[in-house]
Amino acid sequence: MKLKLNNESLAQLQKEIDDALVGARTTEDVDAVRVQYLGRKNGVLTEALKSLKDLGLEEKKVFGPLLNDLKNRIEEQLTRAEHALDVDQSAARDLTLPGIVPETGHLHPMTLVQHELMDIFRSMGFMIVEGPELDQEFYNFESLNIPKTHPARDIQDTFFIKTPITRKEKRDLPKTGWVMRTHTSNMQVRIMEEYGAPLRCVVPARVFRNESTDASHEHTFYQFECFVVDEKINIGNLLWTIQEIFRQLYKKDVKVRLRPGYFPFTEPSFEPDMSCVFCDGVGCRVCKYTGWVEMGGSGMIHPNVFKAAGFPEGKYTGFAFGMGMSRLAMLKYGLPDVRLFMDSDLRILKQF
Ligand SMILES: [Zn+2]
Repeated sequence: MKLKLNNESLAQLQKEIDDALVGARTTEDVDAVRVQYLGRKNGVLTEALKSLKDLGLEEKKVFGPLLNDLKNRIEEQLTRAEHALDVDQSAARDLTLPGIVPETGHLHPMTLVQHELMDIFRSMGFMIVEGPELDQEFYNFESLNIPKTHPARDIQDTFFIKTPITRKEKRDLPKTGWVMRTHTSNMQVRIMEEYGAPLRCVVPARVFRNESTDASHEHTFYQFECFVVDEKINIGNLLWTIQEIFRQLYKKDVKVRLRPGYFPFTEPSFEPDMSCVFCDGVGCRVCKYTGWVEMGGSGMIHPNVFKAAGFPEGKYTGFAFGMGMSRLAMLKYGLPDVRLFMDSDLRILKQF
């Protein structure tokens, strides 16, 4: 539609737009008005503005300002109309409806168990220490009474690191002979060297084994290790500590029994069993109907470990125990399969 430029036609145009906006019920309606009159292509007012250049100078002086005024006014009207519709629509919203909670992540069940466990240890006066994942063979093996020829090195399939590594260490150690730690016990002599005795500490950490993975084997897993050093520490202290930790973690009066075991760095060594938290020792699928669940390794710290740390001979005794974090979490949350923790299956993870 081409606009004939005179006062009547401009007044007529203004009226048309007023009427159109009175009838507008949605923002789409308002948009349609905008396109019809101000659209870049073929908008009635846009075309009229373009046609100014064909007018004589006098006419330009008259209609130029009139058209620009009209354009500004219409733009304001359109904005107001849109805003009015917005307000209208928000009035229709029910502000008492509960909001949509945005989805956020949360801590993994293993992390939750680790935090809870560390809180328990902390409340009992233990210090929590972390250490290097890449460590010297000395700390991972030799200092723990596992010399180079010891068959126990074969029990723990190890990632040996070939690259020579220079890292500042207190002890003068060769640049070669590095391993990914196979257990948290690598921290025992390090901590004894750093802090001396007496000691009450716990080491939660990631450890590595050079194993092909299958249903029951992982190359990386989480452990914690607890050890206490002082004069006159005995097996009774070990048994009580394990029992108390489990009692607080599982919120149940559990029983613990020690079966004889073998670890090079403890003497005597024990494998602790906990009475099954699911059946209270009666027998169920989780405990394979024995009433007991195996809980890792423990024992009295071997004199050779104290010797490696430079402690005076015969002065101190101590106990140590270590466990897999996933086992603790599995029993805590009643998950039947340890692999579920590593699967990233949201159906499982969202339950925590
Ligand atoms: Zn059971």
